[in-house]
Amino acid sequence: MTETLSCDVAVIGAGTAGLAAERSARANGASTLLIDPEFIGTLCANTGCMPSKLLIAAAKEVHRLGRADLFGIEVGEVRVDGPAVMERVRSERDRFARLTRESIEDLPDGIRIEGRARFDGPKRLKLDEGRTIKAKAIVIATGASPSLPSAFAALGDRVLTHESVFELKDLPNRLAVVGSGAIGLELAQAFAHLGVEVTLFDKGERMGKVRCPKVHQALREIFDRDPTVRLGVDVEPKRTDTGVRVRWSGKDSGEAEFDLLLVALGRPPRLDGLDIEKAGLECDEHGGPCHDRETMRCGDSAVFFAGDVATDLPLLHEASHDGAIAGHNSAAHPAPVKTERNVSFSVTFTEPTLASIGSAEDDGAVTGTVDYGDQGRARVEGRNEGTLTLYAAAPDGRLIGADLIAPAGEHIAHILAWAIQTGTTASELLEMPFYHPTIEEGLKSALRTICAATPIPLPQDQDTGSPAGA
Ligand SMILES: Cc1cc2nc3c(=O)[nH]c(=O)nc-3n(C[C@H](O)[C@H](O)[C@H](O)COP(=O)(O)OP(=O)(O)OC[C@H]3O[C@@H](n4cnc5c(N)ncnc54)[C@H](O)[C@@H]3O)c2cc1C
Repeated sequence: MTETLSCDVAVIGAGTAGLAAERSARANGASTLLIDPEFIGTLCANTGCMPSKLLIAAAKEVHRLGRADLFGIEVGEVRVDGPAVMERVRSERDRFARLTRESIEDLPDGIRIEGRARFDGPKRLKLDEGRTIKAKAIVIATGASPSLPSAFAALGDRVLTHESVFELKDLPNRLAVVGSGAIGLELAQAFAHLGVEVTLFDKGERMGKVRCPKVHQALREIFDRDPTVRLGVDVEPKRTDTGVRVRWSGKDSGEAEFDLLLVALGRPPRLDGLDIEKAGLECDEHGGPCHDRETMRCGDSAVFFAGDVATDLPLLHEASHDGAIAGHNSAAHPAPVKTERNVSFSVTFTEPTLASIGSAEDDGAVTGTVDYGDQGRARVEGRNEGTLTLYAAAPDGRLIGADLIAPAGEHIAHILAWAIQTGTTASELLEMPFYHPTIEEGLKSALRTICAATPIPLPQDQDTGSPAGA
């Protein structure tokens, strides 16, 4: 007879969300089991956030050197050593991955179960190696896999996804990137700045799901310098002896040869093979189990979701927060506690940074925009491009959201996310100290526009009178 293990909470998947869920369930008094086929560390460390940011860091250096002549500095010919770039990406990535593996190894004995799990009933899991797990509650934290439609899969070793791109031993000469979401934008621009001839394709005409047309226009202008961007087109890829031939049609048409093609068409939840139907969950129109984002519970069941598999907001901080909520509530099952979620907040690490925070819509929402083309400090630094739009609710000008592509964008985005989350109004933020000359000062003109459009008195203006500060 096969062995049956019992616990209060079984967590499927040892990524960021699963680790957070297990930790939180255990901290709340539950006996836990954490199941993963490999325990190789998180997606973030291996093929996600960290290697992509390492590649972008190299690209930023080249980009910076390319602007040196603006300041009267000659750097001579800049040569990118492709193998060295990719080697650093991998060696630093391996270090991050090792640290996540070490944190998994530090878990108390008996918690880690190596295997692939599937449902055998609402509170029962079957492992591929034969054992059964009985749990009072189960957390699904299996992540997501890159979408690879068959026309692209047929390219064999000429097609890349985020799971293989960081394994390249050298930079390609010509790269096609299909998909202009966050991953496509980041990688297309990084490779282009590293000297790769990149063409970015998308069947849609809006890159990065940017809401504000002015911010999208700024993004488009920045991307029109490099790489080549073809929006509103369908692509037809074909493997050739030397690489990939891409034919495109739609808004324009043509054909070009590439060494490799990177697919960045989204990451569907990893539910295949989980026999989710045996869990008796109610599913939405896309086939994914319905769940409440404030409890991460699926209907009235003993099953909870966490991380990218939940598809709500596939971002690291959300995966971690999902895990904490799902872990707490699975331990407390059947008495879940609702947790108010943070304001939505995403950053795409393009140059300059693209970010989106909160909501753009509210009854009578007003907007304020700043153009970074002539902002004082941005101009000093030779980084004067980009646009920021703030959204605020009437009647008091409470900040509800923002879209931006701006120098120091990740820092400005944090200030705004915190202001929005705490219910700050435009006039309250305007009364905060702003140092001069800084890129943050640029916010002041957008805030003033909102103050002027909302029926509350303007605070005493503390403008220093310095040139082009805000
Ligand atoms: C290229 C790229 C760049 C990114 N950059 C950023 C960024 O800059 N900032 C940001 O916030 N987010 C970024 N993200 C997103 C972020 O990395 C993810 O949101 C986060 O890592 C998801 O964590 P997770 O725990 O849901 O999934 P994962 O870390 O993928 O964990 C899922 C685990 O489930 C296991 N599993 C799957 N099926 C089973 C099964 N049947 N049984 C047992 N175990 C199973 C897997 O082995 C895996 O260990 C990026 C993602 C990518 C791809």
